[in-house]
Formats: sequence, structure tokens, C-alpha cells
Amino acid sequence: MTSPHATSEFADSPKPPRHGIYNFSAGPSHMPLAVVDRIREELLDLGETGIGLIEHSHRGPAYMDASAEAEAVIRRITGIGDEHAVIFMPGGATVNFAFLALNFLSEGGTGVYLDTSVWAQKAIDEARPVGKVQVGFDGRSTDEFTCPDPTKAGADIDAPADAVYLFYCANNTGEGTWFNEPPRSDLPLIGDLTSDIFSRPWPFTDHAMTIAAGQKNLGAAGCSVIVARRDFIERGSKSIGPILRFADHERAQSILNTPPTFAIRVIGLMAEWTEAQGGPTAIAARNESKSSMVWNTVDESGGFYRSRADVSARSHLNVTFETGNASLDATFLTEAKSAGLENLAGLAGVGGMRASMYNAFPVKGAEILVDFMKDFARRNG
Ligand code: PMP
Repeated sequence: MTSPHATSEFADSPKPPRHGIYNFSAGPSHMPLAVVDRIREELLDLGETGIGLIEHSHRGPAYMDASAEAEAVIRRITGIGDEHAVIFMPGGATVNFAFLALNFLSEGGTGVYLDTSVWAQKAIDEARPVGKVQVGFDGRSTDEFTCPDPTKAGADIDAPADAVYLFYCANNTGEGTWFNEPPRSDLPLIGDLTSDIFSRPWPFTDHAMTIAAGQKNLGAAGCSVIVARRDFIERGSKSIGPILRFADHERAQSILNTPPTFAIRVIGLMAEWTEAQGGPTAIAARNESKSSMVWNTVDESGGFYRSRADVSARSHLNVTFETGNASLDATFLTEAKSAGLENLAGLAGVGGMRASMYNAFPVKGAEILVDFMKDFARRNG
């Protein structure tokens, strides 16, 4: 089903990739060509103003309209009401992990963190120098990467009832796992949605805050989309400068200083593209089909490929696999690159291979990867 807000220029399914290359990069990552074409036009002239996108004043009507439009689309997709704000915060996710801790932990409170990934650990690293951190779940200490089990309804999460928030990383980009649902907790929930925003329906209204850096499903790096309850961000510390406070950015309508105007416009276009595809529900079905093709190839390889991602928590965006032999993995990556399958190397510290297939990644790319994986296994098994 296409969204009522679909515009014809974005309604097409993803066009074929460029130069026969399929880009499996974990982020920055593949963009829909319709959006790239539009950015190219707007770089020369935004909305027939005679002034290019990155040349407009951030206080002029052309940029302000673009920013308001981006917020409006994000509000429609997330289904939030007026109690939630949309803020375009400077910097990527890690910068905002630091802002999070400075706002809410600098006055003595405890932040609970679910350690399911390298990125959750980066969030912990930003919080520890600022305040008290409790690791409420350990999903990385064994050989298998996992997330809390939804059937345990929160019983496998260790969190004091008076903690300030509970932080989780919804999709573990490097490990290839994801939360099937947000963790169950009465604490204010903070979700890092950097690599899965708009990839599936998600209950934004149940969160005190979600953080998503731009460079995957939202386009360009350099800006994070924050969806936050207004009463929650008002509780942020007053002992830090305004530029560090979510509430001040919100009151200034994300123009507290010069915002990353280019990245914000790209976020707006990606949000419009998301709607034109039928929104997160339609996109989730496509992501499911792309990822299950690759996961099935791992499972049906007779042990040639394996993955450290817990089967019950497999991500539909990042598929991680390895042969168990580092030099064979290296050969896989070299041959894949020659075949036009780029950026398949696993995250440093995880190793092996990782196929990142975000919302805009074409189904055809997954099919070609699967053919390559089968052929490689036949030749090397
Ligand atoms: N969280 C997740 C889930 C990520 O995948 C990444 C980076 N790819 C980050 C956080 C860090 O984002 P940034 O590089 O923008 O700080």
C-alpha cells in the first residue's frame, strides 16, 4: 500500500545500482537514486529560489520550510503527538550519547544500559565519566551475540527502580542482532535507533527518547533525529551549557546555532521517500525478504557459513556471517569486491562478513549476494 502522502517522484521502487555496484556499507550507506537525483538538483537551486541548498541561510524561509517539512513527515511516520518533540541535534549518535549522559546523569542519577553491542558500549563509555552506569543485561560476554528475551518480559534485565533511564540499542549493526520489541521496563526508555529507524513499525510513543544518526535510513551523516517527550527533556541538568541541552535545542526549533542544513534536508527527503514506499510496515516486509534470503543461505550452507548472532534475535538489516577461517573470509571479501559486492567486511572487533541492507537497499542486491555466497561455498567447501 502506498502512503496517501506518496509523491510520484519517490513512489518508484529502488532503481538499479550505479555502475553495477551493490554497496553493502553499514553507514554511510546506499541511498535511493530518486533522493540522490533530487539532492543534486537542490544543490544548484532549492525550490526555484535561485540559491542552492547549502547556500541558504538557516534563518531564511526556504531552509525553515524544509526543516518544518522534515519534522512534519517524521511526526506522521512515528505517530507521535504533541507531548513528543522532534529535534535535529548536531552530531552523530555517539555525540548524542554524551549529551544524554550530561543531561540526565550529571546530578547523581543512575543510567541503566543493556550491553548488546559495540555501539551500546560506546554509549556506556560516554556515560561513565559523567555519572553512574549500571549494565542491566550482558549480550556480548559469550561467543553468541544476543538481546533480552521478549518471552521473559523484562525478567532478564537488572535495573534499579529509581534509575533515571534505561538505554538500549534496538539494532546491533556490528553483531547482526536486534530487539524484536523494546525492552519491558517501567523506566523511561531511551532507544538508539540509528540503524533501524523506519525499518519497521516501532512504538515511539512508549519512549522518553529515541536517537537516530542520519547516515543509514535517514541519509547523510552529521545530524541525529531525536524524538523525545517534552517533559522528559525539561528534566535535563541546568548546570550544563545550552548547546548541550536537548530542551534548549527543542525550544529553538533546532536552530540554536547553525544547524547541519544539508543533512537535515536529506533527512527530510529520506523521510518523504519512506512514506512514499508505504512507510515502515511496507519497508519491513521488504527488509524481511532481503535478510531472510541471506540468513537462509547461512543456515543451508551445511556449516560452511556460520554466524555468532543468536537466531532468535537476528537483525533484518545487518546479516553477519563468517567461514570460521580468517584467510578464507579475506578471500571471500576480495572476490566479492571484484564481483561488484562492496563493503562486506564485518565491524572491527567482530570480523567476518556483514551484509548491511537498509531500507533503500535493492532486493536484487540480496539475490546477487546469495548467488555469490552459494558459488563461493561450492568452490571452497
Ligand atoms: N549506534 C548504532 C546502532 C550505530 O550503528 C552507530 C554507527 N554506525 C552508532 C550508534 C554511532 O553513530 P555515529 O558514528 O554517528 O556516532
